[in-house]
Amino acid sequence: MEYTSENIEKMLALTKEGKREFLDNLYDFLNENRLTALDYQRIKILSTAPICPRCDCEYVTKAGKSDGRQVYKCKKCGYRFRETAKSLVYYSHKYYLLVDYIKCMLEGKSLRACAREVGISLPTSFKWRHKILSAIQGLEGGINFSGITEADELLLQYSEKGRKFKSLEEKEQAMNTVHPNVAVLVMTDREGNLLLKHTGENRVQNTQIKAELKRRVSEKNLICFKPNEEFQQAVKESPSKKVLVKSPTEKILVRRKTKGLAVYSVNVVEKKITNFLIWMMRFRGVATKYLQNYLMWFVVMNKYLKDEVESDIGRLLNLSSHDRWAWERYFRLIKLKY
Ligand SMILES: [Zn+2]
Repeated sequence: MEYTSENIEKMLALTKEGKREFLDNLYDFLNENRLTALDYQRIKILSTAPICPRCDCEYVTKAGKSDGRQVYKCKKCGYRFRETAKSLVYYSHKYYLLVDYIKCMLEGKSLRACAREVGISLPTSFKWRHKILSAIQGLEGGINFSGITEADELLLQYSEKGRKFKSLEEKEQAMNTVHPNVAVLVMTDREGNLLLKHTGENRVQNTQIKAELKRRVSEKNLICFKPNEEFQQAVKESPSKKVLVKSPTEKILVRRKTKGLAVYSVNVVEKKITNFLIWMMRFRGVATKYLQNYLMWFVVMNKYLKDEVESDIGRLLNLSSHDRWAWERYFRLIKLKY
């Protein structure tokens, strides 16, 4: 299928409901038209202006085609790039299997099972999982909360699962190193918005909580939190209303003038943490370096997916094709050294 500016425009002109329906049927649409993740990425990219991946400049000209893909040349830095440069499908030779891979991922299959079913190697299976998960990291910026918002922290054990050692000495040294806990800030509201953010070592710091509150809540919110020094310090300057919930089982019932009873508690955030920990058990531990990818996977499942594999395939493909520099994000992550 050839894409013209006309049929792309038609798709972009859909109403909000129309777009939702299109996304729900995206998997069928891809199958019917024999489209791949690469075709879909091209549709996404063609819907916006081409940008130079090297200098972010928008002054680019068309410079022929390569493998059927449009090539551009940056007028500022002279860099030549294909339309899909640095996106999810960049450097992907088996991109035509990516949609099948997303399906296996959504079915909760292990890396090995995904590899076997799709027909790729185990290392490729690992790379693809993290390419897709790195691609959805960009959605974090859009997370904000409305109404009653609960905040808490989750502490996990540090892990270097999968690390390859160059020598016995290196392995020994790693075994003898004691690492502090890994801290995750968890925030949620009653509308299903969720933030799980790896903030660093030991505990979540009040400056980190402050920064997130500044970005994601306003004076219209009401923050429920536990008696934790860092949280107490952080919420002080926030323009939102605050409720300190002293024990985890405690609920504060307040009769509101117009809307009836409101329940202030930290039960919702605690339930999210429990669900996350149960869900993580299937991975039998993940390396801390990749933790944020798993945190975001869980957030996206909760917020954007419907727990129906067929329509979720299209949605996850759409979400991961959204970030045009997805590959860059993935590349930075896998280059991280211990
Ligand atoms: Zn440039």
